[in-house]
Formats: sequence, C-alpha cells, structure tokens
Amino acid sequence: MHISLTETAAALKAVQRIVITAHVNPDGDAIGSSLGLMHALKALGKEVQVFIDDDIPAAFSVLPGYELIGKPAEGQSIPADLLVAVDVSLDRIGKVAEAVKAPTLNIDHHITNDDQADKLYLDGTAAATAEIIYQLIEELDVPCTQDMAMCLYTGIALDTGWFRFSNTKPRTMQVAAALLSCGAQPHVISEALEQRPLSEVQSLAFALQKIEILADGKVAGICLDNADLQEHEAPEGLIGMVRVIEGVDIAFTLKEKEPGLCRVSLRSKGIDVTKIALQFGGGGHVRAAGCSIEKNCAEARNDLIKAILQVVEAES
Ligand code: 5GP
Ligand code: MN
Ligand code: MN
Repeated sequence: MHISLTETAAALKAVQRIVITAHVNPDGDAIGSSLGLMHALKALGKEVQVFIDDDIPAAFSVLPGYELIGKPAEGQSIPADLLVAVDVSLDRIGKVAEAVKAPTLNIDHHITNDDQADKLYLDGTAAATAEIIYQLIEELDVPCTQDMAMCLYTGIALDTGWFRFSNTKPRTMQVAAALLSCGAQPHVISEALEQRPLSEVQSLAFALQKIEILADGKVAGICLDNADLQEHEAPEGLIGMVRVIEGVDIAFTLKEKEPGLCRVSLRSKGIDVTKIALQFGGGGHVRAAGCSIEKNCAEARNDLIKAILQVVEAES
C-alpha cells in the first residue's frame, strides 16, 4: 500500500524496536540510507538495528555506524516491531526476510519497486533513497547531526555519480547543501570511497582490452567470465569507463561472479534500460539498471546482447 511521507514518519514513531535493511550487493545509497535513518531513529529513542545480508566493503568504514551493521546468520531470528527496507524491494533483502518476522515498511526511489511491502513510500523522482531519508528526518522533526549528514551525503553523491547524472535535480543539490551545513565532509567521503588497491587499478587494463562494440557503436560492453575474475579483480566502476565512449548509448558489464551466475550492470544516455533488466528479473532506473542471469558467461552474454539489440532496434 502506497503511503505519504507524513504517514511514513507516523509509522516509525508508532513502534519501538526497528530493524533496517537494504539490498544485497549494497551500494553507497543502500548503506548510507540505512545508517542515516538508524542515527535519526536512535535520536528519537528507538531501539534500532541494521542488518544487511552481504559483506559491506571496508571503504564504507568512513561512515559513522559502519561497525554496527550486522549480517543475519543462517536460521537467525531477530525480534522487531517493524522491518524497514530502504533502497530496495523486499525480494532483494536476502536472509533478512526470513530472520525478521514483522510488518514491513519500504522506502525507495526505484520505479521498478514491486509494491509487496505492507506500506510503501516510493518517490521515483528522488535521486537517491538518502534524499528521501533527509526529507523524512525533517518530517520526524529530528535535528540533523554530522553522523546523519555523512551517511546521507554519501548515498546521494554515489547514486548521482558525484552529482553528474541526470537524476541530479535542484532538490538534490538543496538537500546536499543542507547536509553540508549539518557537517558532511565531501572530501573525506570521496577520498575514502575512491581509494582502490593497486591490483584492482591494474586489473582495469585487462578488463578494458575486452570492450565489445555493437549496433554501429550505440552499444558497448565488457564480459568477464569466471576464469577472468579468478585471475583479475573486477574493477569497481568499470561500467563508467564504457559509458563515456563517444556515440555509445547503452553500456553494459557482465561478470560471472560464480560459475553459472552472472551479474549485469546497464547504463544509458537515453534508452530506458529497465526494459532490458526487467526481462531478466532485475530492475533499477531508466538510465541505470541491473540484473542477475543464472547461466555461464557465454550463454548469458548471448541472451543479454539479444535483449539489448531488440530494445535498441525498437527505439530507432
Ligand atoms: P548497479 O549496476 O550499480 O549494480 O545497479 C544499477 C541500478 O539497478 C541500481 O539502482 C540497482 O539498485 C538496480 N539493480 C541492479 N541489479 C538489480 C537487480 O538484480 N534487481 C533489481 N530490482 N534492481 C537492480
Ligand atoms: Mn542502491
Ligand atoms: Mn538508490
């Protein structure tokens, strides 16, 4: 059921024990929104825990509260009055779904949200879920602290590609400015999050050799099979390098993380890439989407390229 921001605030005020979760394979928005909301609810006197069913990259230790994020154990039962899922639909929270048997409140900005939670606040115009959480904190009438600001600024900065993507709106900048006034430190965040191990930077050279150009240059992508990934780390932000190629509208990466399981990222400068991701049970935004394909690299590549070319054809 869709609810308003005021109703979202009321739903949070009405309960005491709250578990916050976000999507597996968590990004800056998932982690920043979870921790930002945690700090705000703690300020309201709530008992709050954050559980994410994945490892949290160490670079995010720059965010206050990082060490408090738990990962549910097999068969664990976590008591709560409310489960709050941020930056995600309930189908991508992994084991947290079984571990927390409580009513669900979902706060999200993905237009592909599946609307399966008991209550859903969805704002597809928000650049990041963290932008919504800032507005929610205002609605809750909690003073914004530096801890909240560091977390929420990170969510917005990463989902907008450091304020470069088309989702960057006047409101995005206004919220970011407010977060700076509350003590967010952009240089501390960017220095921590842009750091990479030498081996990962060097693996870029390997991966970039594998760029494939399709559809008269409108589509470009990189496929890394499991053997490639055994030898070379998957470079973070690889898709950004493909996206900037002149003339490319759709960029993709396909990484065979485990034999027979591929993770796909899609970016576009115009075409709606959710049309491709949804065909494989994924989702996302018009210009940034993703999915998993349970096939080996060669088979998944064939299916993906077929789907991309169909969408490109239909648009031209
Ligand atoms: P990324 O390529 O950075 O992993 O994801 C791009 C966008 O697509 C993000 O907003 C992310 O949440 C969404 N996305 C990526 N993979 C999936 C998926 O498997 N399912 C859904 N529903 N969304 C996804
Ligand atoms: Mn996310
Ligand atoms: Mn997001």
